[in-house]
Amino acid sequence: MGGVDDRSAGGPAGPGGGAPPFGWLTTKADPLFAWARKWSLFQYDFVTACCAMEFMSTMCAHWDMARFGAEIPRWSPRQADVLWVVGTIVHRQGPPLKRIYDQMCEPKWVVAFGTCASVGGFYDNYSTVQGIDKIIPCDIYIPGCPPRPEQVLDGLMLLQEKIGRGELSRWQEEQQKKAAAAKLAG
Ligand code: SF4
Repeated sequence: MGGVDDRSAGGPAGPGGGAPPFGWLTTKADPLFAWARKWSLFQYDFVTACCAMEFMSTMCAHWDMARFGAEIPRWSPRQADVLWVVGTIVHRQGPPLKRIYDQMCEPKWVVAFGTCASVGGFYDNYSTVQGIDKIIPCDIYIPGCPPRPEQVLDGLMLLQEKIGRGELSRWQEEQQKKAAAAKLAG
C-alpha cells in the first residue's frame, strides 16, 4: 500500500493529531471490501434435481432475490463467487463439481441448497454423496426438501452477515491450513 502515509495530503489525522500511521487505509479498506462483497454476490448455480424449482421460484419476481444484491446468475464459474449446489449429488458428479469450485473467483462461498446437498437427503445409498462437504468446503446449509423460498433467503442473509462481519469463508480457512502445513513441512 505504497503512498498511504502521505503527510502532505491533508487527510484525517492519526492518534495524537499527527499524520495517519502507515497502514491506516488497509484496516479501513477491509470493512469496505466486505460491505461491497456482501451486496454484490455473483452466483453460479449447480442444479441437479427437484430443488431447482424452488431455486427458480426464489429467483423470480415474487420472492425477488435481487433485493439482496444477489441478482445475476453467471454462466461461467470464473465470473462467480457464490456456488449454489441445488439438489442431489451422486458420486460421478463429484469431480465436475470440484472442478467448477476450483475455477471460481476468490474468495468464494458455497451454499448447500436443500437436504440432499446438505447431507444426502433420504438417498442413503451407494450412489449418493452424503453431503457436498465431502467434496468441497461448504459455508451455509439450507435444510428442507425442498426448502421454502423464505428459508433460501434466510440462508442468503446468513451468508451476507458472515461476509459483512469479515469472517473467513471455508475456502479461506482451507487456504490458511494448507499454508500452515506447507510452512511446517519446510
Ligand atoms: S432435498 Fe428434496 S426436493 Fe431437494 S433435491 Fe433432494 S429430494 Fe429433491
